[in-house]
Amino acid sequence: MSPKALSSSLSQFLQRFCLVAILASIVLLLLSGYAASKLYERHVVRLAESNAINLTEAIFTTYRTELNSALNSAPLLPPQLLELNKTLRDFIQPYGIVKTKLFSPEGIIIYSTDLSIIGKDASANEMLKQAVIDGASSNIQTKDQIRDLAHETRFDVDVVESYVAMRDRNGGLIGIFEIYQDTSSFRGEIQQGVILFVGVLAIILLSVICTAFVFMRKAVKKMVYQQEMLEELATVDAVTGLYNRAEITRRMEAEWQRYKRSSSKQASFALLMLDLDHFKKVNDNYGHLVGDKLLQLVAHRLMGELRSYSAIGRYGGEEFIALIPDVSYAGTKQVAERLQRLVSQSEYALLGHKIKITISIGFATAEPTDINLDALIKRADDALYEAKKSGRNCVVGDVSLKPVENTAPSSM
Ligand code: GH3
Ligand code: MG
Ligand code: MG
Repeated sequence: MSPKALSSSLSQFLQRFCLVAILASIVLLLLSGYAASKLYERHVVRLAESNAINLTEAIFTTYRTELNSALNSAPLLPPQLLELNKTLRDFIQPYGIVKTKLFSPEGIIIYSTDLSIIGKDASANEMLKQAVIDGASSNIQTKDQIRDLAHETRFDVDVVESYVAMRDRNGGLIGIFEIYQDTSSFRGEIQQGVILFVGVLAIILLSVICTAFVFMRKAVKKMVYQQEMLEELATVDAVTGLYNRAEITRRMEAEWQRYKRSSSKQASFALLMLDLDHFKKVNDNYGHLVGDKLLQLVAHRLMGELRSYSAIGRYGGEEFIALIPDVSYAGTKQVAERLQRLVSQSEYALLGHKIKITISIGFATAEPTDINLDALIKRADDALYEAKKSGRNCVVGDVSLKPVENTAPSSM
């Protein structure tokens, strides 16, 4: 896979990772927010229930005589009722209780702060039955409106309704006490608690996602870089920095296929075979290290001169091949002569030596008569052979189809 394709598929993967992570986080936050609010609500109900039990026990201990006599002498007469009403109201006022009821063991309302319901039969009430079995029962509910102890109507109130069974010393049921406790103040507390919990969780998740993203992006960049390095190693010649033989051949083959497909055959392309003259002498006189360095400098000059759409590769030891697309015979000749002059025009300063070198170039442009790419390469190679034969440091074009082109030869 090419580095470009790898980079785009990895950045697609990163995008998908972020999307999935964000969606999963949102679902997680919603679920945990819901679970936290339920847990908090349960906690509030338990708290209210234990408050109710404590309060009932306190009321029962403090007013045992009055409650016993109320339960024994039901229905209560107005003076007794008013006396009990005043006593209980004074006691429960500070505890956020909006209503109380006292039931006989049979479920008849003996007393309530709402005097209008005294005497009613509540024996069918499931929570009442539950309290008789379990000792206490509670639930939380939101009432649209409720009348408090001061007979004022309150709207949208959260109340915990708790029933507590009252028993004598022998465990016998003597009545059931019910209180409605206003827990609306807890609602804000629940909301704040849940918001805080979800907020902290969101920050943690975001930090984890961001950290993972940063690490993954770093890893992706490293992978793409390594892929680029691998591709470079696979396509570039280590000594000269030009394309290696495999890569330049692949590019020539691609250009050849394009040329063959083009119906007009107008868009010709050219191959240049370039060979350094008497390079062996450089090695012999200065050593291989200098020879290598010289190859590199010559390659840089050649590469710098060619346009970006052209390509040049190392074809053999001190032999290069250049591919110039969409060019005429005359155009190719001009390019080749420019390259030949460029290589020889100035000395190369190398490890304390000043070396002069020349180059011979043979070229050929693709022709409809070429049966394959090798035929075209051979024509360029033959032209190079002619250039060498003609005395080197010169350019020779396509000997089979065109007259031999020759620039003034000179020695190294
Ligand atoms: P001609 O003008 O006929 O091309 O002469 P030449 O000496 O350039 O050609 P020849 O084929 O006789 O010798 C090519 C030399 O190039 C021989 C070889 O040692 C040298 N050579 C090939 N590859 C490398 C390389 O990678 N580094 C160095 N330093 N020398 C190389
Ligand atoms: Mg040579
Ligand atoms: Mg050679």
